[in-house]
Amino acid sequence: MNADPLELQKFSELAHRWWDPTSEFRPLHEINPLRLEWINARAPLAGKNVIDIGCGGGILSESMARRGATVTGIDLGEKALKVADLHSLESGVQVRYKLIAAEEMAAQEPDQYDVVTCMEMLEHVPDPAAIVRACAALVKPGGHVFFSTLNRNPKAYLFAVIGAEYVLRLLPKGTHDYDKFITPSELSQFIRSAGLEVQGFKGMGYNPLTKIYSLNDDTSVNYLVAARRPL
Ligand code: SAH
Repeated sequence: MNADPLELQKFSELAHRWWDPTSEFRPLHEINPLRLEWINARAPLAGKNVIDIGCGGGILSESMARRGATVTGIDLGEKALKVADLHSLESGVQVRYKLIAAEEMAAQEPDQYDVVTCMEMLEHVPDPAAIVRACAALVKPGGHVFFSTLNRNPKAYLFAVIGAEYVLRLLPKGTHDYDKFITPSELSQFIRSAGLEVQGFKGMGYNPLTKIYSLNDDTSVNYLVAARRPL
């Protein structure tokens, strides 16, 4: 199976704090409005059939459902999905959560989704190219696929590992494994090999003084990529 049990365990141990905006998941809460607007500007979500791969506790999934999309969230973390389900009950925002691998979901529901999102997940799996292929299989012809991950270079190591985990302590130590970071050119290659077209990149930055995240054109550390399946 294309999953690392230690990676799943890391998220599992923290799962009960997923919706606490002051917890280890604070960065995901803070970047969520930025990525949501970015996605919605490219693929207006109202009325769309959306799948969120590696959805965790459902921060992005719920926010897309609030925009009027019909959302399915999948993950291999059982605890995170339980938290996601509970939160959805509490908030009244409906999302269909499933414990299933992306590859298996792609075999079950090919060509079904207008929008596929896979955020902050590729850098935690053994074979990210296989996840990209699964996303390409899930999306309808003409549909959109959005990824975000971490670039791999000395600056990314300094900012995303040393800075975020050791200096600013935004994330628990050991959250990210530098060797699994993915350069934009590698991700572009995965996307094209899967039969999708790269539409554009966006960088994501954090200002430690103002504690504000923003989207920009600097893809050297955190970045997002928009792709599309040809019609
Ligand atoms: N996408 C969410 C959560 C990111 S945290 C967000 O951005 O808000 C990373 C998530 O990836 C965790 O929920 C973890 O359980 C999940 N994950 C890690 N490896 C996975 C795999 N092989 N298959 C599915 N999900 C995986």
